Amino acid sequence: MDIDDEILTEFYDNRYAVQGMLIYRKAALIVVREMQKILEENLEKAGHEPVLFPVLIPEDILKKESEHIKGFETEVFWVTEAGKKVLDKKLALRPTSETPVYTMFSLWIRSHKDLPMKVHQSCAVYRYETKQTRPLIRGREFLWNEGHSAFKNLDDAEKNVEEIRKIYGDLLNDLCIPYRIHRRPEWDKFPGASYTLAYDTLIEGKILQIATIHNLSEKFSEAFNIKYEDEEGNHKFVRLTCYGPSFGRLLASILNIHKDENGLKFPAKFAPTQIVLVPIFAKGNKEDVLKYCRGIKEKLVQFRVVLDESDKTPGEKFYYWEKRGAMLRIEAGPRDIENNEVVVVRRDTRKKEKIKKDELTPEKISEIFKDIDKNLREMAVKKFNEAIFTAGGIDEVKNLAGKGIITVGLCEKEECRNEIENYVSVLGVEEKEEKCVVCGKERKVAYAGKTY
Ligand SMILES: [Zn+2]
Repeated sequence: MDIDDEILTEFYDNRYAVQGMLIYRKAALIVVREMQKILEENLEKAGHEPVLFPVLIPEDILKKESEHIKGFETEVFWVTEAGKKVLDKKLALRPTSETPVYTMFSLWIRSHKDLPMKVHQSCAVYRYETKQTRPLIRGREFLWNEGHSAFKNLDDAEKNVEEIRKIYGDLLNDLCIPYRIHRRPEWDKFPGASYTLAYDTLIEGKILQIATIHNLSEKFSEAFNIKYEDEEGNHKFVRLTCYGPSFGRLLASILNIHKDENGLKFPAKFAPTQIVLVPIFAKGNKEDVLKYCRGIKEKLVQFRVVLDESDKTPGEKFYYWEKRGAMLRIEAGPRDIENNEVVVVRRDTRKKEKIKKDELTPEKISEIFKDIDKNLREMAVKKFNEAIFTAGGIDEVKNLAGKGIITVGLCEKEECRNEIENYVSVLGVEEKEEKCVVCGKERKVAYAGKTY
């Protein structure tokens, strides 16, 4: 991330003594809490109940579904001792919460009247990453929201997948993050899922998976014995779905996708500082200007607004706040006071506009913010679309690796896949007419790219 260290430390500090575990600081938490609030509200509107499960999972529960544990076993942190005692049963720090949640589902679900059952929690999960850790992107502790739902049948589970797609789509739209949804190939789906949908965005040409939705196979409900009694008195296994976006990765996406040569930019609702007021002093009028600015600040308390009263020059203040992504700058000096005006400067376009003080209402600001977001979204989508390529041969795949998402013909043979995966990862495969670039025979289209 080519963002000044001085600014990044306002978001997180990664100098803590456990590698791969971050300290989230104020600026990051403002952004994360905003996205968490929107997501949780929408999940709850769609019938999810908030829960908070313990962080520890007993070994036998974590290992109940064999495919699942195979996918995680090299990444689990274990608690083996407590006080002076060696524990009889090892406890895992949750790498994800399917197993504890489904243990409880098997107690909570009795009848068809208990279904659907939908729960969600925002929490930290723990994975002993062996690849190089990266702040916000690949950590050994990371923040996310996970949803877990149980249904009578596959149809209801599929409807839930659609509903979650809508909720995640709305959040990503608010965050102005462009993405593609890829149905992960068989060899890369969530352990225990019948299929996995992944949300992939791009940061500097590399693919970042920011959220996933899994429709689980019946193996989970069988392993955890989650059954319900239907209207006729038959006992049936439920169908399960689980899903989650990573808050850290969403934050990394915002920071990297929207930044420009002048520093950070944010969708206005998420900016740690939304508005900065810069008083322009002339000799002897400092108090008048400050009073005028304080009056403006009071009118805008519903936003995160800072009145920069420091001794720095206006130019220094402009530079300081621009780098931090304050999305609107309001300047006021003696001339503006005389005319009962302010100067308003947008962070995204840097356009200046004079506005009468009386017209500077929260409604007016919200209107400007909406336009800023629209602009940010359009710029991000344009850049994203410009980084989607088509490769006609394996040499082109090689050349395009690390530059974006590559569309390429690929068959189902393992040798062809391995050849491609020497350079890029396959994100998803679609049934389309295209020749395999390796062997030139069978036809499928793959989306591929270098991943974080
Ligand atoms: Zn082939």
